[in-house]
Amino acid sequence: MEDFIIEKVERKSKVELPENLVFGKIFTDHIFEMDYDESNGGWQKPTIKKFHDLSISPAAMVFHYGQAIFEGLKAYKQVNGKIALFRPEENVKRLNRSARRLCIPEVEPELALKAIKELVRIDKDWIPSKPGYSLYIRPFIIATEPCFGVRASNNYKFMIILSPVGPYYPEGFLPVPIMVTDKYVRAVRKGTGDCKAAGNYAAGLLAQSEAKDEGYSQVLWLDAIEQNYIEEVGAMNIFVRFKDEVATPMLSGSILPGITRMSVIQLLKDWGYNVTERLISIHEVIDAYNNGKLLEIFGTGTAAVISSVSRLKYNDKILQFNDTKPGELATKLYEELTGIQYGKIEDRYGWITYVD
Ligand SMILES: *Cc1c(COP(=O)(O)O)cnc(C)c1O
Repeated sequence: MEDFIIEKVERKSKVELPENLVFGKIFTDHIFEMDYDESNGGWQKPTIKKFHDLSISPAAMVFHYGQAIFEGLKAYKQVNGKIALFRPEENVKRLNRSARRLCIPEVEPELALKAIKELVRIDKDWIPSKPGYSLYIRPFIIATEPCFGVRASNNYKFMIILSPVGPYYPEGFLPVPIMVTDKYVRAVRKGTGDCKAAGNYAAGLLAQSEAKDEGYSQVLWLDAIEQNYIEEVGAMNIFVRFKDEVATPMLSGSILPGITRMSVIQLLKDWGYNVTERLISIHEVIDAYNNGKLLEIFGTGTAAVISSVSRLKYNDKILQFNDTKPGELATKLYEELTGIQYGKIEDRYGWITYVD
């Protein structure tokens, strides 16, 4: 594999993190960058250098036609002092899937993985060691060719930046209220909903802000065609625990295939639960609630790991769960996944990649 060009910043003082880490506001000393030039052999030299602002043409295609994709994962300082990544090869696979869908050139998977590991290693002093803290890793690719033509760009920039983050729930693992929307849609089958494409998130902002105005922290999206089947939450997949089944929406083409989702399915199967991936109608969820057959609902995603739902609103119906106590299975999954990530529980699936 190609050697990296590394221009290391020498720090004069120790890294100091503020008491209150707001998600994604502070960045580490270094950035990984690799440019793509179609007319010059494709991907150029992988480089790690001082974190800096970019100089980029206002005509760069990313600003006009939205060719932008990203990933999100974390590095954890484990209880034994080792630095761990959780299934990073899956993030690289998904980055390349998103790339294919948006006509962005793919990145050599081994190189992308090496880039993540090298950057984290160089900035490892930025990984907080307090429980629940971690270093958020954000790989992304943007189209940089200055051109108004509507076609795929001939130039791109692949970057990785890092941000130390605190626990998602500073007050503890608390359930969150969620609102189902049928006023807007996020993604439609055969569109880009199953990619981490930047534009998907812009499309969801209005619904999210209207939900916030009503006191709900997130939106639960329905399928775009029938507005009947539940799909996922802002940046989380969703699981519904019925009395005799734990169901999650099947990957129909408009849902983001979450790595936490995949890991939760595996854990539940191994724990002997009846796990299904299928269509789940919002009306089925409401009926089950009315008949006492609905035990809990929770979301899964890298940021919060597991998020228990306290209340679910759909038009004038409100499904009320425990406001202060997360669901039993949500709690068990949270303990298990964070236990594996922080090295308190044996990594029996080989999900952990160590840096160094
Ligand atoms: C990132 C994301 C998820 C969760 O994926 P993980 O790999 O578990 O972090 C779910 N839905 C959407 C829309 C996302 O962007």
